Amino acid sequence: MGDGCQQGVTVLGATGSIGRSTLDVISRHPDKYRVVALTAHKQINLLAEQCGEFHPEFAVVTEADSAEKLSGLLSEISPETEVLSGIEGMERVASESSVDQVMAAIVGAAGLHPTMAAVRAGKRVLLANKESMVMTGHLFMDEVEACGAQLLPIDSEHNAIFQCLPQDAALGKFSHGVEKILLTGSGGPFRNRATDTLSTVTPEEAIAHPNWSMGKKISVDSATMMNKGLEFIEACWLFGATPDQIQVVIHPESIIHSMVQYSDGSVLAQMGNPDMRTPIAHALGWPQRVGSGVEHLDLFEVAELNFEKPDFGRYPCLRLSIDAMRRGGSATTVLNASNEIAVEAFLNGQIGYMEIADVIEETLSMVAVEEVTDLDLVLAKDSESRTVATAQIDKRRSLPGSRMQ
Ligand code: NAD
Ligand code: MG
Repeated sequence: MGDGCQQGVTVLGATGSIGRSTLDVISRHPDKYRVVALTAHKQINLLAEQCGEFHPEFAVVTEADSAEKLSGLLSEISPETEVLSGIEGMERVASESSVDQVMAAIVGAAGLHPTMAAVRAGKRVLLANKESMVMTGHLFMDEVEACGAQLLPIDSEHNAIFQCLPQDAALGKFSHGVEKILLTGSGGPFRNRATDTLSTVTPEEAIAHPNWSMGKKISVDSATMMNKGLEFIEACWLFGATPDQIQVVIHPESIIHSMVQYSDGSVLAQMGNPDMRTPIAHALGWPQRVGSGVEHLDLFEVAELNFEKPDFGRYPCLRLSIDAMRRGGSATTVLNASNEIAVEAFLNGQIGYMEIADVIEETLSMVAVEEVTDLDLVLAKDSESRTVATAQIDKRRSLPGSRMQ
């Protein structure tokens, strides 16, 4: 446990959007939280700056040569910080004995091993990295239970659902008169764009989200609503819900962050301005409440809340996700891996926007679905799906008339 009454916190993915918001909340409560470790992929300068402010025991980067550069930068501003590198370094700081809480905010499958290390060490895990849950499914929840870890959802929707569920309902147990989860999503920047122009969407347009400021990958996922699809899967596992017990609702204002419907007709909603510091502060402080720095909600300014049914023609990735969850087994592993490859190819200008869903659908039809028995099988499926998706992208690029050569 951390010194005195201060909680020791590791922030995995400290330089990202969630990581920076987490440090913003922590900086408001120096009496409550102490940063033990910060990790990053390549943003060495920002990581060094963060170390200069929070003086963690450890800073971890992916590559050894970045670690060397970081050590140079820290020699004056935070000489007490030990610099580590690689997955081993990230796993170590996720499981150190001086750590009480781990913010899992690395993007994509790269977050799996460090997040799992935190779970296995029985830490309190603040889960933003939804991809690790989607790719491993029940294995993740089994491990949480077996290791006595405590899982608190950071995704704003899941955090909202957690807040609206009965207080004595355990995560992973859908009961207590709970009938349905109403999973809200803004519909992204192309909710009203003519569908026949969607194929010309550029990466710049796709990463400009109307309500939330986020990393590039999740911004594209929000535009395609793959993000809602991944969240649908995440919600099934986290709350022990079946696909029939979750309904996706488009709510363009992003003021309600999700709802829970009960058997007596009650629907509980959690509301607030769209700012991730609210769910982050909720999870850091839980079961207490701590200040987040988020501006209070002004309902007169909001004035109107709207709700729509999602159109699967506009959002094929959402349909693919729900189908993959219904199919079960490793289908969601394939979905997640092929999406990561397709989004990267889209951001690099290799495929068009609507081809993201095509590549995922093709990969899903080509990689055999198996029962998820252990992590090795998940990793093998993840890697096979990446190879298949990459080959599909290459095939598309070599087609005569491809716009994206
Ligand atoms: P981001 O791209 O802004 O940040 C990602 C972080 O992960 C960075 O610190 C980066 O250095 C690190 N990283 C990237 N690749 C890595 C690798 N290969 N190995 C180790 N570290 C690596 O992303 P974000 O928007 O902060 O999202 C982080 C996670 O939180 C994602 O899983 C996302 O789905 C989830 N999430 C984000 C938001 C949001 O508002 N940004 C909301 C809900 C959930
Ligand atoms: Mg979300």
